[in-house]
Amino acid sequence: MSRATEEQIKRFSTMDNNIPAKDRVIAWPRMGRIDIPLKALLTNLGAKIVIPPANSNEALEIGVKNSIEGICLPYKLNLANYIMALENGANTLMMFQAPGSCRLGNYTKMAQKTLKKKGYEFDMVIFDMYRNKMIQTLHAFWHVTRCLNPWKYFKAFSLGFTKFYAIDCAEKMLLYYRPREINKGDAEKYYNKWLTKIDDCNSLIGSKFLCHKIRKDFKNIQIDKNKKVPVIFLIGEFFVLLDPYTNQQIEKELGDMGFEVRRQIMFSGWLEHVLKPSIFYKKESHRERAVKYASKYMKRAIGGECIETIGDTVYAAKNGIDGVIHIMPFSCMPEIVSQNILSKVSREEDIPVLSLVLDEQTGKAGYITRIEAFIDLVKRKKLRRGE
Ligand code: SF4
Repeated sequence: MSRATEEQIKRFSTMDNNIPAKDRVIAWPRMGRIDIPLKALLTNLGAKIVIPPANSNEALEIGVKNSIEGICLPYKLNLANYIMALENGANTLMMFQAPGSCRLGNYTKMAQKTLKKKGYEFDMVIFDMYRNKMIQTLHAFWHVTRCLNPWKYFKAFSLGFTKFYAIDCAEKMLLYYRPREINKGDAEKYYNKWLTKIDDCNSLIGSKFLCHKIRKDFKNIQIDKNKKVPVIFLIGEFFVLLDPYTNQQIEKELGDMGFEVRRQIMFSGWLEHVLKPSIFYKKESHRERAVKYASKYMKRAIGGECIETIGDTVYAAKNGIDGVIHIMPFSCMPEIVSQNILSKVSREEDIPVLSLVLDEQTGKAGYITRIEAFIDLVKRKKLRRGE
């Protein structure tokens, strides 16, 4: 790691220690359903928690009102999550940070300053997930809970990780079954049922069978097995990919239009790659695949998911995927770079690509119209190929 990156990490890492562990009420930003595994993890370490409400128009309004103009959408929503959590009794805010040109590395610090100026009293715990990852993570959880019981750590982390995998498993099933289901809404019902079951599970043994049970249960959904379902890769910035409110439910929209979405970033896959020591990580990671496929167009990662965006598009083209939708927040620097390269990739690799930029001004109607126009393009291309 370069000296500049190390200094950047040191500058932005914070572990305030003003509140005694027994009085701590912990909160973290919302993003999709990461609240379920984090709840399991922290409560099993004996922590009290507050889960801020899911992202919504109300949260966005709070975030926009308290942010500087031009900052990326994830920052605004994270800030709103912090405010809502503090208003609901939280006094400790947790967040991880990363180096690079993505502003994630410093925006928690910015949020901390903004919240202090607004008069909130709280501890901020920002931990680094890109250097001694597992040790830093364990240290952060020890710092907020002061739990010294190894069994509790084993249970909390095992349960937390298994729940991350189970949620991703349910999401993959939903994405596969939604465009094929015969009774509209079945897949969504199964998905919601499983989210509740995953949340309720507090047994280590029970949690190990969740993915198996989810896959088996989804098979009960009646589907049209002969339906030809085009496949779309959904790629782009991490936060907008994983948060359905922020991406305006794009997966549901595409699924309802009869397309199978394959989202290229799943939280469990990312977490496994980031936290697992490399000697235990045997398979090719998403990042490694991206670097390999992007090499013709981009020589190195410059932060955020920039290189994944390029690599995933080339990979899609070489693997018969019908089209790629790239989503990014307005003013996201790494994704602006990849967006500019994507038109060349689309032309040279002969794959339809649609880039959608999201911010608080993005209207649903215009967004859907662009997706529908893109879908027509994908269908025409398939017809031309005689499929
Ligand atoms: S990747 Fe882009 S949108 Fe995401 S936090 Fe970084 S700068 Fe903001």
